[in-house]
Amino acid sequence: MGQIYLDNNATTRPSGAVCRAVEAAMTGLWANPSSVHRAGQEARHAVELARKDLAALVGVAPKELILTSGGTESIDLAIRGVLGAASLRTPAGPTAKPNVVTSRIEHAAVRDLVGRLESRGSIEVRWLPLDRQGVVDARALPNLLDPATALVSVMWANNETGVIQPVHSIGEVCRARGVPFHCDAVQWVGKMGSTGVGTPEHAAAPARASSGPPSLPCDLLSFSAHKFHGPKGVGGLWVRRGLALEPQILGSQEMDRRGGTENVGGIIGAGVAAREAREWLADPAQQARLATLRDRFEDGLLRRVPDAVVNGAGCPRVWNTTNVGFPSLEAEALLLLLSERGLCASAGAACSSGSLEPSPVLLAMGVPDALAHGSLRFSLSRETTEPEIDEAIGIIAAAVAQLRRSSSASL
Ligand code: PLP
Repeated sequence: MGQIYLDNNATTRPSGAVCRAVEAAMTGLWANPSSVHRAGQEARHAVELARKDLAALVGVAPKELILTSGGTESIDLAIRGVLGAASLRTPAGPTAKPNVVTSRIEHAAVRDLVGRLESRGSIEVRWLPLDRQGVVDARALPNLLDPATALVSVMWANNETGVIQPVHSIGEVCRARGVPFHCDAVQWVGKMGSTGVGTPEHAAAPARASSGPPSLPCDLLSFSAHKFHGPKGVGGLWVRRGLALEPQILGSQEMDRRGGTENVGGIIGAGVAAREAREWLADPAQQARLATLRDRFEDGLLRRVPDAVVNGAGCPRVWNTTNVGFPSLEAEALLLLLSERGLCASAGAACSSGSLEPSPVLLAMGVPDALAHGSLRFSLSRETTEPEIDEAIGIIAAAVAQLRRSSSASL
């Protein structure tokens, strides 16, 4: 068997149709979509069709979608954009420092940004408490809000554990208090369909005048195409109509909300990926098949490595993610051995690989330091097969045994 790829939360393989669409766009639709000539207008038309497909996947109106370079930029635009618009309304002063409420399990795109804004003195960050499974405590939210709260930002599904957050409860509190709510849905859109975003029911309403993921009371929602077999460097931010947002990159594109000539090929590829994801989501048996595969993986692994611990196992998770702690092992050593044996996994977020620090997400959940040091993330895609899962279990169990033998021999 060739390489077994269980690192789909880092990125997914672009589908064949996506690759073909990108190539065709690069060769045939390379004009600038802002140009008035026919070639430009053909590119514009293709971009707008792709926007419709992406909006249909998210379940929102195309006009409310800002196309960006991916999840990180969408998050940045949501947070800085809302803060910027708020500061235009409220002149800064010693008593006017805005606060942002978020959690320590957010992706670095959120955590690092709010951390930097706080260290510069522009905002105060208020952290929502978490339980041992890594679930944000939504009941604590009302006490953290006050008139200076500019934004609440909580992810839908955690990228390291797959744990699903109570974003509906959080959204309801925000709505009742009139505070904008941003949801990082990068690990949700294109994968999940059962609670709103991406379901055929909502996806069937892309042409509504004003929308929003109907079952999720939120005001901004970010997503990224490379997490659902689209190209890297394309994503989107849905913004509820009427919400004030200060653009961060100035230019006339995206209705003045995000400047820069559009990545036409990437956007067209993302539109194809969105269509394929919708088709896949329309058949609930597909998600069920993969959830069964993930469970088979965990059961098989725990049988072969009985002291392994699944982080976040005690609560609802997206079907594709599992985070497994191997006591007394170093994640990096295990990752390298797995890679030599043809298995791709990761130790936490892809962008933190190469660092020997344990995942801040696991530490924030209260996973003991030693276990966090030996924890790996395995993430499936809709292409993952049963033989791959069975082979992966054997490879991991053998690698764990080898590392343990060599560490006890060196004592
Ligand atoms: N948010 C989450 C939850 C993610 O998992 C990621 C990427 O891993 C991002 C944001 C950033 O997305 P992108 O890679 O498109 O910048």
